[in-house]
Amino acid sequence: MDAFKLLSGLNEPQRVAVSAPRSHFLVLAGAGSGKTRVLVHRIAWLLEVEKCSETSIMAVTFTTKAAKEMKDRLDKLIGIAKEDMWIGTFHSLSYRLLCSHYLQAHLPSNFQILDSEDQSRLLERLIKSMNLDSKKWSASKSACYINNKKEKGLRPQDINNYDSFTESTWIRIYKTYQDSCERSGLVDFSELLLRSYELLRDQPQIRDYYQTRFTNILVDEFQDTNHIQYEWIRILSGVSSKVVIVGDDDQSIYGWRGAQVENIQRFIQDFSGAVTIRLEQNYRSQNNILVAANSLISYNNVRLGKKLWTEEGNGDQIIIYHALDDLDEARFIVSSLKEWVREERSLDQCAILYRTNAQARILEEILLENNIPYQLYSGTHFFQRKEIKDLLAYLRLIVNRNDDTAFERVINTPLRRIGTQTLERIRQISRDYKLTLWQSSQELLKRKGLLGSMVASSLKSFIVLVDELDQSTKEFPLDVQTQQVLHNSGLWIMYRDSKKEIDQSRIGNLEELVTLSRKYASFQHTYSEMTPLQDFLSYTMIDLGVENDRNKRKDSVKLMTVHGSKGLEFLQVFIVGMEEGIFPSQISLKKGGELEEERRLAYVGITRAMQRLTLTYAKKRRLYGQEVSYMPSRFISELPDHCVKKIVFNTGMDQHLNKEAMASSLIDKETYFSIGQRVNHKKFGLGTVINISGIGKDRRVQVVFKNQDVKWLVAVYARLSVQ
Ligand code: ATP
Ligand code: MG
Repeated sequence: MDAFKLLSGLNEPQRVAVSAPRSHFLVLAGAGSGKTRVLVHRIAWLLEVEKCSETSIMAVTFTTKAAKEMKDRLDKLIGIAKEDMWIGTFHSLSYRLLCSHYLQAHLPSNFQILDSEDQSRLLERLIKSMNLDSKKWSASKSACYINNKKEKGLRPQDINNYDSFTESTWIRIYKTYQDSCERSGLVDFSELLLRSYELLRDQPQIRDYYQTRFTNILVDEFQDTNHIQYEWIRILSGVSSKVVIVGDDDQSIYGWRGAQVENIQRFIQDFSGAVTIRLEQNYRSQNNILVAANSLISYNNVRLGKKLWTEEGNGDQIIIYHALDDLDEARFIVSSLKEWVREERSLDQCAILYRTNAQARILEEILLENNIPYQLYSGTHFFQRKEIKDLLAYLRLIVNRNDDTAFERVINTPLRRIGTQTLERIRQISRDYKLTLWQSSQELLKRKGLLGSMVASSLKSFIVLVDELDQSTKEFPLDVQTQQVLHNSGLWIMYRDSKKEIDQSRIGNLEELVTLSRKYASFQHTYSEMTPLQDFLSYTMIDLGVENDRNKRKDSVKLMTVHGSKGLEFLQVFIVGMEEGIFPSQISLKKGGELEEERRLAYVGITRAMQRLTLTYAKKRRLYGQEVSYMPSRFISELPDHCVKKIVFNTGMDQHLNKEAMASSLIDKETYFSIGQRVNHKKFGLGTVINISGIGKDRRVQVVFKNQDVKWLVAVYARLSVQ
């Protein structure tokens, strides 16, 4: 392909970026301006015009879906997307590095990945064994602490705040957890990054090899990189490497997970000569949608600042639907979708976005009721279902007997009369002698008399079972092996004989896993000397890039969280639950600074829409089993009037010109507070809202001020500013 063809279909600044001489640069631009397109064309340019080799390319994306999209687009453009190019997520690329150099990374050859659920379980067990109060030192808080430290690149010995009891306890938990992972050959998600970073840092030969190899590094969605990811990119880039990053500070939505938008500025300082290229034309959305998005994001103070424009016409107004309740909200969406289908348009091009996974359930129900095909992108991940994890646990034990989390999971599943007491014994031995649970079991069996004869024989038969499953299936192809383990472990019969209806669908899922293993094995995987089973197990943890088309239905509406929609686009988008307390979320209302992140998230959601956008909010809804009633989201009032059309439940009336309603919603907005919110009063200073009563003009808030004064104030007059 010639240079001319690669540049056609690009605007001027995009062309500049794609055809720039090999150098560091940054494309900083708003949503839908073609950043990802530039990245793909740039890779093609490097290969075709600069004649760089495929092995010189490393492209990092944020999700597996995005990585696949990138490979597809490349394939379309120049007809190649080879294994030689490293295109993937930070996690999958780190995994690839660790597989190739497990010895130097001080990992066993059969190391396995630990997902967040298993991480929590393991922590729960360890915290108990440390005799700590599991309320104060909960597994979830500990997981946060540990992941956070790892994302900052810190090992227990690097954290030196031993003065405080709290900190030193956290450090102890971190250390105990890490020791246990090392013994069991387990690597959690944050560890993948940190471990591969340390590998490059501590092994000059390996570092030199990759630095010389990856002369072209490209990163999409750079605004969401965290500290360790940034360092990872930095250490991989050698003297002859050129790094291209693309990002949008207005779409930074992972601050809560340690992402640092400042990395954009750091990049300019750290990579000498890096220039910034800006794109301003949006090719995705019609003008009304774009104007609304621009207006919304302008309410944020912390921005690098940019404006988007489009040549597209205004298009439809944005529909804002005020629903009676969540049921009515779902029904409204269904009727809009039916109308869409009547226009002979494809459901594949529609997405329903929500703030949290819990909101999906009712939507699913109503879509099902109306026979509208849908595809759920989040919620309980297939590989996280109970039955799937059971089967995976057996497979993991086959690969690695020392995998403690897998051991705990299936030692008594199906039931084999090994109760908590026995398990506690095994754990005790493992604590006392620093052994894995598997080793401890063998130890217990060796020392006669420690276990009752019944229990001892049950434990013995479990050990024999796992050894046999390993031996007898070793030589089989992956799917036959999976199938045999499913049956011979007793799992299949356990579910088949169950009286519970749900267990019948579980059998279907288990068989699905067997099918998936067949598909997986038919792809070529050449990462390292891993066995197909080891490789497959890692794939179930981090989606190594094979498209997972389970549940994939032709022409179906996509349901996902707003976070999950990053980088994607759809002709029609619905965002549900636009209410204060849902979107923006309750937590963000309490903490300063997070409201801006929430607004960026809304900006991401809105800018997914190409032609039609509908935002809905409900007067009341059930959430987490409770009926709640929230104010409309402030984000709605931040959209310009002329871009939106309001519809209210039942009446179906066009409320566009209903000034009174607008005025009252404005008062609501100005007088909206939540308990726990930090506010500032001109005279009394800083305070915290502790009580609220009345609505609209009559709303009163009780505030405790810094000097301990407690006051009731009428919200419209108090002019409290939110901190
Ligand atoms: P996001 O910030 O949401 O990730 P982005 O900046 O990565 O967006 P892309 O997904 O690359 O944007 O592009 C948005 C849409 O605009 C895509 O459908 C893309 O094909 C199209 N597009 C981009 N540039 C052009 C162009 N010069 N001419 C025509 N279409 C374009
Ligand atoms: Mg993009």
